[in-house]
Amino acid sequence: MNSHDVKDDPFCNLRHNMVSSQIRSRGISNQRLLKVMQSIPRHLFVPRYLQKSAYDDHALPLDSGQTISQPYMVALMTEALCLQADDKVLEIGTGSGYQTAILASLARSVFTVERLRSLSHMAEKNLRALGYDNIHFLIGDGTLGLPDKAPYNCIIATGSLPQLPESLLAQLDENGILVAPVGGRSLQKLLCVKRIGTKVEKHDLGGCQFVPLIGQNGWSS
Ligand code: SAH
Repeated sequence: MNSHDVKDDPFCNLRHNMVSSQIRSRGISNQRLLKVMQSIPRHLFVPRYLQKSAYDDHALPLDSGQTISQPYMVALMTEALCLQADDKVLEIGTGSGYQTAILASLARSVFTVERLRSLSHMAEKNLRALGYDNIHFLIGDGTLGLPDKAPYNCIIATGSLPQLPESLLAQLDENGILVAPVGGRSLQKLLCVKRIGTKVEKHDLGGCQFVPLIGQNGWSS
């Protein structure tokens, strides 16, 4: 597991407050996750002019009209994945790479796909500088998944989908879990789908608002 050296980190108190007042207080109880969110320097994943707001209770804009998700949403989605230290994870929508850092801290390896080259390169540079060596960065249409490297123990989509693509479910390992915002262009339901043998079990984790995934199994623009 990677962890940021928090010595001399002026953001340490803000991060501590974020975890206690936004994450733990809303019912997230996975201790490994709470510890990781306490250590990852979220301010390094937002544009420089927004660093002071990095630990606020909302999403923030990134370059190219994309967003870094609200900390609580990141925590809710990650907890739902029930990650184990030996897991192989597929992330669709690298964006800033903040969610990627959390996944890579809790699992064995992460394959993360981003449509926009500039965002993927920035996230890769950042995550390598922080010492992560278990992340594979790919540029392309993540709505198709990454069949070459399947099956995955967990799949997470960090942008919205109009419906759940069969091809993604097919890339889940037996007992694998997929978490994705599914529904309309501006409002979605956060779905957690567990694959149990040939069956799937769906849970609705509540309403959410994500930027769209643009692609063959996503939105057209
Ligand atoms: N987890 C990220 C969220 C980024 S927003 C974070 O917290 O920073 C969703 C991301 O999905 C955007 O970066 C967007 O460019 C990307 N995206 C959109 N369509 C995609 C597709 N078909 N495949 C992969 N990434 C896509």
